[in-house]
Amino acid sequence: RQFTVSATRQKGKVAEFHGQKGTDGLYTVSLIEGDGIGPEISQSVKDIFSAAKAPIKWEPVDVTPQLIDGKTSILPETIESIKRNKVALKGPLATPIGKGHVSLNLTLRRTFNLFANVRPCRSIAGYKTPYDNVDTVLIRENTEGEYSGIEHIVVDGVVQSIKLITREASERVLRFAFQYAEDVGRLKVRAVHKATIMKMSDGLFLSTAERVSKDHPSVEFDSELLDNTCLKIVTDPTPYNDKVLVMPNLYGDILSDMCAGLIGGLGLTPSGNIGDECSIFEAVHGSAPDIQGKALANPTALLLSSIMMLRHMGLNDHAQRIETAIFDTLAEGKTLTGDLGGKAKTHEYAGAIIKRL
Ligand code: NAD
Repeated sequence: RQFTVSATRQKGKVAEFHGQKGTDGLYTVSLIEGDGIGPEISQSVKDIFSAAKAPIKWEPVDVTPQLIDGKTSILPETIESIKRNKVALKGPLATPIGKGHVSLNLTLRRTFNLFANVRPCRSIAGYKTPYDNVDTVLIRENTEGEYSGIEHIVVDGVVQSIKLITREASERVLRFAFQYAEDVGRLKVRAVHKATIMKMSDGLFLSTAERVSKDHPSVEFDSELLDNTCLKIVTDPTPYNDKVLVMPNLYGDILSDMCAGLIGGLGLTPSGNIGDECSIFEAVHGSAPDIQGKALANPTALLLSSIMMLRHMGLNDHAQRIETAIFDTLAEGKTLTGDLGGKAKTHEYAGAIIKRL
């Protein structure tokens, strides 16, 4: 049970495409430190990678929002860096609520066509939660749905927000989910939807899933209504431990936070945003402005995202070594951050991991 993007990538079949090795033997990775606690947790990753002698050279990039032709964008040199390196690690980026610039997280996903968001979530040994056996994998469509950003005022007091579902984007993420299931040997895919109500949009997602499933006879396929999934997963997550859940954008966003709650919170859950050309790895959580600058942040989620990144690049030995040090530190339970009931500062926790490398 490893945090990974897919076994195919782990076996290195496409590793050369997903990260370029320089003449110095190092892979350059674009680093977006992010807002709020972003710089603090990024520092932990940098310190631990450096102590573990991971062959990574960080290329810091600037994602200050730019207004280009009236649209929120990112600097051309940032786009160039991520395109060149093909892999980025990203801290959280804050989004203004109800006004201001378009979410930069969305801008990044759209700019690089990062169509699949892989969110594994599993119980941490030594940290007590209502369930100690959670092991879910959720794959979220990452480019459309309610996040298509198409909103307009119809008349004063009436706003329309378009939920966009296309066969093309649905098929792309569904094919990825079935391939993932085959690659990691988790041979059950469940599409989560609300096609009883959104008969056309979710109906299209579901019928596409049924069609794609026929190309993967070794994978068992079924579907479930979102509300039913929510009820069942908090009642007993065990039946989800052998499945890959795949769903439209908004459902994946919310359900993955719920899964995070089952294992002890947002400080522990990683993710990978996967595209054909580039991939960006990031924690599920946001910029946590309430604890910014206090050294209270738990860097585990970003660290585990960086483990997914290493496996994506075929750097499995380094991934394994760092992952083991993280889980052993958590299991020992002596040096935990506040969100896990401990008293350790962010850098003290990182230091405890470094000692175990
Ligand atoms: P949040 O995830 O930042 O915080 C929710 C709660 O979890 C807070 O109490 C916070 O202190 C805690 N928390 C989160 N990460 C933690 C960590 N690593 N260690 C310890 N505690 C942690 O969610 P929010 O407050 O709703 O959002 C804050 C900002 O982050 C918003 O601007 C939002 O748009 C943005 N956001 C960004 C991303 C992203 O970059 N992918 C994701 C979600 C939210």
